[in-house]
Amino acid sequence: MYIGVDLGGTNIVVGLVDDLGSLLTSLSCPTGRERGFEAVVADIISLSKKIMATDHVKKDPVKGIGIGIPGIADPETGVVISCVNLFWENVPLREALESALDLPVYIDNDATLAGLAEYEVGVMKSAKSGVFLTLGTGVGGGIIIDHQVMSGKHGIASEVGHMVVGDSDVPCNCGRKGCLETFASSTAIISYTRQHLKEHLDSVLHERSEGNLELIDGRMIFDAAKEGDDFALKAVHRLAHYLAIGIMNIVAVIDPEMFVLGGGIANAGEFLLEIVREELEKQKYFKAVPVGSLCLAELKNDAGVLGGAFLAKSKVEK
Ligand SMILES: [Zn+2]
Repeated sequence: MYIGVDLGGTNIVVGLVDDLGSLLTSLSCPTGRERGFEAVVADIISLSKKIMATDHVKKDPVKGIGIGIPGIADPETGVVISCVNLFWENVPLREALESALDLPVYIDNDATLAGLAEYEVGVMKSAKSGVFLTLGTGVGGGIIIDHQVMSGKHGIASEVGHMVVGDSDVPCNCGRKGCLETFASSTAIISYTRQHLKEHLDSVLHERSEGNLELIDGRMIFDAAKEGDDFALKAVHRLAHYLAIGIMNIVAVIDPEMFVLGGGIANAGEFLLEIVREELEKQKYFKAVPVGSLCLAELKNDAGVLGGAFLAKSKVEK
C-alpha cells in the first residue's frame, strides 16, 4: 500500500493506493494556504493518520508516501524550494512529514506526478517512455522513462513549460521571456485573443463577449475555432505552433514513445490534437522520421493522488 497526496492551492487530497494501482479510499480538506506551512502540514498528517487507521492498512501496511506539490522540491533534501501558490519558500516538507508519520516521504511536482499516473494506469500504460504536458493556467509536464520520473538533480527537470520556443515580450513567471508557458497556456491564448480581437472585426468573439474582453475565456475561443471563426482558429494555430516547437525540442533530446496532453486546454479534445499534429508535421526535422504518438490524458481528478502513490512505489522498490 502507498499513500498519495495531492496538495493543491484549494484542496488537500490524501488517498490510499494498493500495489496494483487502485485507489481504495481518499480523504480531503481545504488547503487554507493563508494559514501557513505548519497548519497545512498538520492537516496532511492528520488525514494520513486517518487513512492509516482504516481496515485496508491492517491487512497490508503502507510502505511510503508520495506528494505532488504545485512547485519545485529538492529531491535529495525534500525541501520545497518554491511553491508560489502556497506562499512557500524553502520549507522542510519531507522532514516535517517523516518525523510525524515514520514513513519515507517523496515529493515531486504535481504535473510530473499526473504524468506518472497516466504512465502507470492511464493512456501511457503500454509505453516505455512518455511525456505528459499539462496545458492549464501554466504549462507543466512530466517525463517518465522506465517507471521513473525525470526530475533531475535539482528537481527542475520535466519543467517543459520553461523551454524557450520563440521570441516574445511577455515575461514568464520564471523571469525569462519566450517560454512555452507564455504561448501554450490558457492564460496565453486568452491574453493573445483579447489583445488582437480589435484587428478582426468579423470575428464572432465580438458578439459572444458582448464587447467585454474580460468575458473571453479558453472555451469561448475553442468553440469559435471549432465553428470556423478565422481569428479564433488563428489563435489556436498559434498555440499549436509553439506547442509543436516544444514537442520537437523534447523529441530532439529524448525521442519518447508518447506525448500526452492534459489540463484545461486539452478539453478541446480531438480538435486540438488534429491541429497540433498538423503543426508537428511542419516542425519535424528529418521529415521522414516518425515521432512519438500524440494523445489526450485519460485520468481526471484522481491523477494527482495516484501519481503520488506511484512515486512512492517507484522509490521504495528501486
Ligand atoms: Zn518560464
